[in-house]
Amino acid sequence: MEKRVAVLQGDGIGPEVTSAAVRILEVVARRFNHTFHFDYGSIGGEAIDSFNDPLPKETIELCESSDAVLLGAVGGPKWDRNPSELRPEKGLLAIRKHFDLFANLRPVKAVPSLLQASPLKEEIVREVDMMIVRELTGGIYFGLPSRKTATAAVDTLVYTREEIERIVEKAFELARMRRGKVTSVDKANVLESSKLWREVVEEKRQRYPDVEVEHQLVDSAAMKLITNPKAFDVVVTENMFGDILSDEASVITGSLGLMPSASVRSDGFGLYEPVHGSAPDVAGMGIANPAAAILSAAMMLRYSFGMDTEAAAIEKAVDTVFEDGHFTADLAGSTDRALSTTEWTDKVIGELD
Ligand code: ATP
Ligand code: MG
Repeated sequence: MEKRVAVLQGDGIGPEVTSAAVRILEVVARRFNHTFHFDYGSIGGEAIDSFNDPLPKETIELCESSDAVLLGAVGGPKWDRNPSELRPEKGLLAIRKHFDLFANLRPVKAVPSLLQASPLKEEIVREVDMMIVRELTGGIYFGLPSRKTATAAVDTLVYTREEIERIVEKAFELARMRRGKVTSVDKANVLESSKLWREVVEEKRQRYPDVEVEHQLVDSAAMKLITNPKAFDVVVTENMFGDILSDEASVITGSLGLMPSASVRSDGFGLYEPVHGSAPDVAGMGIANPAAAILSAAMMLRYSFGMDTEAAAIEKAVDTVFEDGHFTADLAGSTDRALSTTEWTDKVIGELD
């Protein structure tokens, strides 16, 4: 297959970790006979410096002519005091909005050789493998009216049936690619929007008889995520609940720095980025951990390009490198046995080849 990938390296460690991910994709292309074209664009702080715009129109056009977007990270202390329209994070919000990336996918998977990094007991964390699917473009963060006076304030939680349908369909499709279970999280005992949400899930499940469905109230789901996380496969929920639960879930494995993410829409186009930020404290030192960016590239192959075998090969290579005891400084504990970004990436390439 021939695919175009827009690479938006961004700020801080963004260029270092995306370069590592591109190297991995080049190896995959060679080994599996694909052609990937990489085109580079600006976003975030570096785009503010060059274009006075955190998401220049050149970048939008580049992404529009690409099949998927690989992003590093945006932000850093240099731009912290900029006015709100010139903040690096604006670029990220704007690109999600422009491309209508309504589904945020965050896998949470235990790494066998890093179980002790979790604040939870090993037997609770072992074999955790879930995917949180968060609605990203609707709900209370966008509902109107939204205003505050000295004596009262209002936010509005609105969902249309169409908005719920498309995210729920996404969750069912993902469950089919995984272990075939969907947990829909809502607050249907109180919220009207959740009652509609639950109705839509019940309708949609008719079309996916092979997928097991359960409903959980968000308060109880928050508890079960910590007490029995391996019971979850795909978790689908609205924007604010997903915001909270995905951060909660990210600490289960204790390896926030290893987590990839995707923001996608129905036609397969998507933006892939590590969950971690630009880590300005280690930027430019060549010691950043590229695992989350590399695993984000694997998600891109699976969810935008339908290359499941290739994605699994990358994931297996990363797992093996960890199992063999190779770590970057953030995970190595003592720096004398830590590998640099490039050395660690070389190990993954060694496994892939
Ligand atoms: P942001 O606001 O962009 O999310 P942040 O400071 O809140 O930034 P991160 O950028 O994720 O969060 O960084 C948190 C800390 O974790 C950093 O100080 C850095 O030392 C470490 N860190 C995060 N990601 C990595 C990585 N890939 N490799 C090494 N260290 C990392
Ligand atoms: Mg942060």
